[in-house]
Amino acid sequence: MNKKILIVGGVAGGASAAARLRRLDENAEIIMFERDSHISFANCGLPYYIGETIQDRSKLMVQTPESMKARFNLDIRIHSEVTNIATNRKKVTVNSKDKGIYEESYDYLILSPGAKPLKPPIPGIESRLIYTLRNIPDTDQIKLRVDQEGIQSAIVIGGGYIGVEMAENLRHRGLDVTLVEAAPHILAPFDSEMVTFAEKELQDNGVNLHLGDGVQSFEEKDEGVTVTLQSGKQVSAAMIILAIGVAPDTRFLKESGIELGTKGHILVNESMQTNCEGVYAVGDAVEIKDYVTGQQAAIPLAGPANKQGRIAADHICGLPSTYKGTQGTAIIKIFGLTGASTGVNERTLEKHNIPYHTVIVHPSSHATYYPGAQPIALKLLFNDEGSVLGAQAFGAEGVDKRIDVISTVLRLKGTVDDLAELELTYAPPFSSAKDPVNMAGYLAQNVLSGRAKVVTLNQLESFDPERQILLDVRTKAEYDQGHIEGALHIPVDELRLRSDELDQGKEIYAYCAVGMRGYIASRILEQKGFQVKNITGGYRSYSMSRFVPANLTC
Ligand code: FAD
Repeated sequence: MNKKILIVGGVAGGASAAARLRRLDENAEIIMFERDSHISFANCGLPYYIGETIQDRSKLMVQTPESMKARFNLDIRIHSEVTNIATNRKKVTVNSKDKGIYEESYDYLILSPGAKPLKPPIPGIESRLIYTLRNIPDTDQIKLRVDQEGIQSAIVIGGGYIGVEMAENLRHRGLDVTLVEAAPHILAPFDSEMVTFAEKELQDNGVNLHLGDGVQSFEEKDEGVTVTLQSGKQVSAAMIILAIGVAPDTRFLKESGIELGTKGHILVNESMQTNCEGVYAVGDAVEIKDYVTGQQAAIPLAGPANKQGRIAADHICGLPSTYKGTQGTAIIKIFGLTGASTGVNERTLEKHNIPYHTVIVHPSSHATYYPGAQPIALKLLFNDEGSVLGAQAFGAEGVDKRIDVISTVLRLKGTVDDLAELELTYAPPFSSAKDPVNMAGYLAQNVLSGRAKVVTLNQLESFDPERQILLDVRTKAEYDQGHIEGALHIPVDELRLRSDELDQGKEIYAYCAVGMRGYIASRILEQKGFQVKNITGGYRSYSMSRFVPANLTC
């Protein structure tokens, strides 16, 4: 008997599952229900269409119902919302714009309903000038307002990926943009001393930042909206983009018997099966295992949704594919900067009491003697055994490939030794003979072997001048341009002759611009009997970590 498979949700996970099912089983009856009018559209491209980097709206439609039916022989039913599932009878209830309410039976059901933007009950949140961005109709509304009403200003609430992308794209359209974030920093996957690169880039490109200040209320005023922040400050603009996170779109499953997590995510096993016979779930609506910590997590990203859709289809067709967890590998363009990360950050490791080390390096994207090399700030997190736990990077060039390489090593349960040993492509226009990934691996090896002792910027917060000395080993010109307050200055090349100026009874925290000369200085001093640590990331990381947005400095 031919299988009858229903799919709920026709975008990333759903469309991916449908295509894979058909490739594996030419005879299955496959029906895909989509509440909206579009299937398989490029959610990730929506901000860039509003910003007009993508100019042709039709390019957002990766597939149309017609093209997908022609290629995959699917029964695609748009404007069809699944409102209930009777798992005991293996039937779904559909509310269709054309056919009204009806039931459809299934042998297998794949749920990929995604996640919807959060809209907490903040006073004034129902204003028609507050927009969220999830799909094509949302995009059309926002773009129409920017295009036709010639508005001058917008406030983006939420500094996650969508919020930051919208801030950039609205700036491209010439609007005055303010970004409000309740947490002390934007882009939660990055640690605080790294994410300041992104915050500075936003400010340098004219985005006003309000960090560590949540929204108290919205009020429509003078054809715009005034936002009152928790601090009492008020900011006003013609429109608001609300991008404070997402929640699984699973309300229709409440009575279905399908097991949901505390926040409404669907619970699945590694074959993407729910607790109900024949029912699978994938994408933003499911809880997955964090690949690094092994803990349950929800990480809404397109790559995992697509992969899970394929795995559910495989399993239905008898293939033993499994989903082993999400690493959270992600990337973002912030004007001229790229930020990317994989694995976990310090906050997550601390939350789960997982011991770790960190190092920060600042290599160049390619050989510095070849024109156009750009600095990359690369932070690596690893454990005592050398296992890679995470990495974060910012830079104008070459960030994507370094994080992709590290994410591959992490996926393969590799170590910092692997990072040091990897043989990566090299010619001067592309990299250096020691790639940034190798450099991070070398430093991590030195830390684990005890050859390099590092102080992180967090640890520097508890610097005690009674017990420690800050030592700047850069040139005088560099020191004069800016240094950590209270630092002694002895350039590394003079250190062998001037080490008697240092108190042997105190621990020395050495630093240079990026860490290299600091390491050399620490090797010299250590062999003279000093206790020395090198400030990881050097003055470049230190000064960036001190970045405070303009409106917080007044
Ligand atoms: P979706 O793709 O959201 O699809 C779910 C579909 O199900 C929706 O179309 C919905 O209408 C439909 N549906 C829901 N309930 C029902 C129902 N009861 N009946 C019928 N249909 C229903 N991820 C990245 O990795 N990189 C990026 O750069 C990136 N950028 C993004 C930018 C934006 C603006 C947005 C909104 C998301 C972005 N994402 C990005 C996230 C990515 O799009 C999602 O992780 C991915 O689409 C999730 O796939 P999904 O199938 O679970 O849900």
